[in-house]
Amino acid sequence: MKKKITILIPAHNEEKVLPFLFKSLKDLENNNKKFSWEFLFVDDGSRDKTLKLIISETKKNKSISYISLSRNFGKEIAIAAGLDNFKGDCLIIMDSDLQHPPELVPEMIKLWQKGYKDVFAKRKHRKDEGILKRIPTNIYYKILHQFSNIPVHENAADFRLLDKVCVKALQKIREQNRSTKALYSWIGFNKKEIEYEPDPRQKGSSKYSFFKLLNLAIDGITSFTISPLRISSVLGFISCFISLIYLLVWVIIRTIIMGVDSHGWASTMSFILFFGSIQLISLGIIGEYLGRIFIETKNRPLYFINDAYFSKKR
Ligand code: UDP
Ligand code: MG
Repeated sequence: MKKKITILIPAHNEEKVLPFLFKSLKDLENNNKKFSWEFLFVDDGSRDKTLKLIISETKKNKSISYISLSRNFGKEIAIAAGLDNFKGDCLIIMDSDLQHPPELVPEMIKLWQKGYKDVFAKRKHRKDEGILKRIPTNIYYKILHQFSNIPVHENAADFRLLDKVCVKALQKIREQNRSTKALYSWIGFNKKEIEYEPDPRQKGSSKYSFFKLLNLAIDGITSFTISPLRISSVLGFISCFISLIYLLVWVIIRTIIMGVDSHGWASTMSFILFFGSIQLISLGIIGEYLGRIFIETKNRPLYFINDAYFSKKR
């Protein structure tokens, strides 16, 4: 029997690029007939013709399935919806903007057949990204690497092949704050990376602004490590120690015993401001975690499906 390969494609307002994508998926299928293909689109609350285009493509291409979410939930949740509705032997997650070249798919499948359970593409560099996006991204990965016990692969795109055992593992994770990239590392299994040169976006524009990425980065750190909490307590201990020495030397020995006059409004003010802000930062860190606990305890479903259609081939 042919191995069933599903390609999962989250799409949010991608009407401009879809015709090109449909064509390259068709080519991929025609060039690799020894597998049974399914192209599972997750329409993430698009407000343009994305869903219409996908529906009309299901009439022309029998391998297309789709899930349409009730609103825009974000790419991570769209991927979760796809994972939940997966039936097949392996799943490949791919962006809809053709930045993830479909030509790489056969190579990924070869590695999967060799026994790797998670084959991910690592981008060499991104032509469409300015320094403003690249440097913070690099710093973020360095921080995440330092603080969490699990290795998160730098520059690993969301372009990856997952064996069904990995998909089963991911289906069990029902967190609201999902940082999928770190989850892939967390589940473990036999991983293999391949490098690729990402193409610039074919049509349309990136959905991720600097601030959206910053939010994702904070989510990534807080959902994977409690190191920031530890750092704030360590900082507390260090400043307590330093203040104690100051108290002993400056106040007790110098002022009380030796009787030297002490004056200085400026130094007092700067100490108050400095420690006040450290306290606020620590409170903020605690707040970040508390907020996340609040969201998780509500235990809401991750998404709602508005409409779905599955290819007869599954
Ligand atoms: N996407 C999505 N929901 C969103 C934002 C993006 O499903 O809320 C999809 C989008 O259609 C694309 C993929 O996620 O297929 C990556 O988005 P984009 O190309 O904008 O991100 P970038 O490549 O700039 O990181
Ligand atoms: Mg893109």
